Amino acid sequence: MSSSTIEFDVKQVEQSKISQVDFNNIEFGKVYSDHMFVAEYADGEWKDFRIEPYANLSISPANATLHYAQSVFEGLKAYKTDSGDIHVFRPQANAKRMVISAERMCIPPIPEDLFMEAMSELLRLDEAWIPTRKDTSLYIRPVIFADDPYVGIRPSMTYKFLIFTGPVGAYYSEPVNVKIETHYTRAASGGVGFAKTAGNYAASLYPALQAQKEGYHQLIWTDGKEHKYIEEAGTMNLLFYIDDTLITAPAGDSILNGITKDSVLTLARDWGMKVEERRLSIDELLEAFKAGKVQEAFGAGTAATISKIKMIGFEGEKYDLPTETPLADKLFQELDDIKMGRKPDPHGWVYKV
Ligand code: PMP
Repeated sequence: MSSSTIEFDVKQVEQSKISQVDFNNIEFGKVYSDHMFVAEYADGEWKDFRIEPYANLSISPANATLHYAQSVFEGLKAYKTDSGDIHVFRPQANAKRMVISAERMCIPPIPEDLFMEAMSELLRLDEAWIPTRKDTSLYIRPVIFADDPYVGIRPSMTYKFLIFTGPVGAYYSEPVNVKIETHYTRAASGGVGFAKTAGNYAASLYPALQAQKEGYHQLIWTDGKEHKYIEEAGTMNLLFYIDDTLITAPAGDSILNGITKDSVLTLARDWGMKVEERRLSIDELLEAFKAGKVQEAFGAGTAATISKIKMIGFEGEKYDLPTETPLADKLFQELDDIKMGRKPDPHGWVYKV
């Protein structure tokens, strides 16, 4: 039974699409579950909360988001445990981050309780879509976008909030090659890098494509001012295990403050490791490579949880990382065990639907 206190209208599909899905072979971001949550913002309030069949939207050609990208989104995952429970990993943190993103983009934030209840109701309805094979999950995509049919530039007066979901398999399963980018900039101080907003991702496509042409999977972004300090990767925060210390860039206004990264740092501190959230310069990283002190480097993000880096390219030089990655492996396993309810959850990260 639903424990909702917020009322939703629910219109269910007449015929589920689930039998058309090959759950043994799921591609990321191609298949969506039967239902979506929709809310409208108009006249200064969020209203018309409803769950309806997942379907195309009808929008004006003058829709403000199409032109000016006044939108924010989130990404999180639900898991089916061995005992059949639905677990979501740290959804309250996503709800909070969406408020932070929305405020920067002049978007009326979604109250945390609405986010949580809408997501929970949707998951209960589309529970059968949560895959059960190893490393699979149900990806949850909340998004808010400006809906005014108006091509003048100003904050929209109407918005839509949607949540839709889709089953996903493992994202980057193999260790990746990444290139340190020192020409293009992802985010500047004073800009919107800390917000999960559409334009950040559009702006990253061209530089990422150039790196892919050179044989890299991803970029390592550096600071927009001097291109001297390591920031983050495409959709992952970066962690470097140098000597005896786990180092990651400090949260600031040019980096998306990742929930996976925060979980990794928390576990590392629990395990008594030395953890530093501070600026790491390219020079310092290269020095550490030369001294043989770089033990591991990996990305942390919802898509892959932990994405191991096998080589870092900088100005034509290639820096290989050790193939043995005990820390990354242990972190991945611990997070997986917590998400799947196989280990205690001392920080209360798992939300049971
Ligand atoms: N940086 C960027 C730019 C991202 O898009 C993401 C994915 N949301 C992350 C980092 C990792 O954040 P999280 O661990 O919350 O998924």
